[in-house]
Amino acid sequence: MINNTREIGWNFNNSYAGLPKLFFSSQDPTPVRNPKLVILNDCLAESLGLDAQLLRSEDSISVFAGNSIPEGAKPLAQAYAGHQFGHFTMLGDGRAILIGEQITPEGKKVDIQLKGSGRTQYSRGGDGRAVLGPMLREYVISEAMYALGIPTTRSLAVVTTGESVMREKEQTGAILTRIASSHIRVGTFQYASSWGTVEELRALADYTIQRHFPEIEKTQNKHLNLLKEVINRQATLIAKWQLIGFVHGVMNTDNMAISGETIDYGPCAFIDKYDQQTVFSSIDRQGRYAYGNQPFIAKWNIVRFAESILPLLNDDQAKAIKQAENAIEQFDVVYHQKWLRGMKAKLGIISDEGQQDELLIEEILAIMEKYSADYTNTFVALTFEKSNDTKLFNSAEFKDWYKKWQDRIHRQNETKDASQELMRINNPAVIPRNHKVEQALKAAEEGDYSILKALLNVLSEPYNHSCNQGDYATPPSSNLPYRTYCGT
Ligand code: AMP
Ligand code: MG
Repeated sequence: MINNTREIGWNFNNSYAGLPKLFFSSQDPTPVRNPKLVILNDCLAESLGLDAQLLRSEDSISVFAGNSIPEGAKPLAQAYAGHQFGHFTMLGDGRAILIGEQITPEGKKVDIQLKGSGRTQYSRGGDGRAVLGPMLREYVISEAMYALGIPTTRSLAVVTTGESVMREKEQTGAILTRIASSHIRVGTFQYASSWGTVEELRALADYTIQRHFPEIEKTQNKHLNLLKEVINRQATLIAKWQLIGFVHGVMNTDNMAISGETIDYGPCAFIDKYDQQTVFSSIDRQGRYAYGNQPFIAKWNIVRFAESILPLLNDDQAKAIKQAENAIEQFDVVYHQKWLRGMKAKLGIISDEGQQDELLIEEILAIMEKYSADYTNTFVALTFEKSNDTKLFNSAEFKDWYKKWQDRIHRQNETKDASQELMRINNPAVIPRNHKVEQALKAAEEGDYSILKALLNVLSEPYNHSCNQGDYATPPSSNLPYRTYCGT
C-alpha cells in the first residue's frame, strides 16, 4: 500500500468486483525486481485527475510496476472467452490485472489495468509478462488513434521491470498501464452465456448498461436496446478504422470491446498503399482480418454477441432470434452511412447527390488500388491540390476522375474554402507509419527515447498539416510487405 494515494489523485471504485464471482478472480500483480518509468502520459494523467509530477515518484512507479497497490484498489483478473480466428476458447486476463476503476474529475469511471503484470489463474501456459517493444508500440498506436479521433483505450505509462522475459530471444520486461472505459468484451458475454446462469448473464448485461448506456436503463426491453447500442458503436468504430486505413489484425471476439473502443493493439498497422487485401499479421495466413474484411468480421462478432444475450431478449427463443436478426440488419446500414459520410468529407463533398457520390468515391479508390497509391498521402494531395508526379496522378483515369470531382465540388453551393476545410480536418497529414514506429522502438529498446518522443509529438496533431510533418509522412522506401507479430 502507498501512503500518498489521495495526494496523487487516485480515487478508486471497484464496481466490477461487485459482479458475481464467476466473472473474475481476485489477484494481486506479481512484484518485479527493479522498475523504471520509461514513459508517462502527462496530459492523460491530468485528465484522469492524477498529478503527473507525483506519478514520477518512486511510490507511483511501484504502482505501475505492480509492486504496490494504491489505497482503495482491489486488483482482479477478468474472466472471458472468445472466438480466436473462428475457434471458441476459454480465455481471461492471462497477463493483465485490473487495479480498479478511477473516478475522473468529470465523474467518469475508467479502468486502470496493468498489462504484463504476472501470471493469473487464466494464464494457461503463458508467463504473464510483456516486453518493452510491444508495450511501447501499443502506447504509440493507441495515442495516435486517440489524436486521430478514433475511440480507443489509452496508455498512461510504461515501466521496465528490471527482469528479462523469454520470447524468441531474451527481451526487456515491461508493463503498460492501460486506460479503458471498460474491458467488457464480446467475449465476456460469450463466457457468461457458456459458463454462467441466465441470472449471471443478466447481471453482466445490467452492469454493462449501467456503465456504458445509462440512458437505456429504463427503456422497455433494455437488453434489445443494449444490442442495438453495441451495434451502433461497433459499426461506427469500424467505419472510422476503414476511413483512416487502420488494420487491427486480430479481431477475435475477446478483442472487441462493448464500449466501442479499439482495444488490444497487437499485430495492428496502418495501410500505406491502398489495398483491400492488406494483412500485416504473420499468423493471419488466410487473410481473415484483412483490411477489407474488417466490416464483415465486426458483424460476425456482433452475431456472436447477439447469440450470447438471446435468453435476455425474449422468453420465446424464436421471437428472440427474430428480434436479434432485425437489430443486426442495422449494422450494415449504420456502417455504410458512417463510411459514406466520412468518405465524402475526405473529398470535400458537402451536399448530397446520392448514388453519384458513391460512384465517385468507388472510382478513386479503384484507381488508387490499381496504381498502388499511398492512401493517406493521396487524400492529402487532393486536399492541397498538389498532385505529385506519380503513376496515379499521371494516369488518364485519374485525370478523367479529377475533372468529374472538380465539377462535383463546383456544383454545390458551399464555397471551395469550406470544402477544403472539410478535407483538411478529415485527412490526416500523419499516421503512425510502420517504418517510423519501428525506428522509434528500436532506438528506445537501445535506451534512446528521443525518437519515440518526437514521433509521439508529431502524431498528437495529425490534422495540423504543418511543415515539420514532412519526414513522418513519407511512405516506406521498401516495397517488401510489412509483417507484425503476436505473442508479445
Ligand atoms: P491477445 O492475443 O493479447 O488478445 O491474448 C489472448 C489471450 O492470451 C488473452 O487471454 C491473454 O491474456 C493471453 N495471453 C497473451 N500473452 C500472454 C502471456 N505472456 N502470458 C499469459 N497469458 C497471455
Ligand atoms: Mg486480447
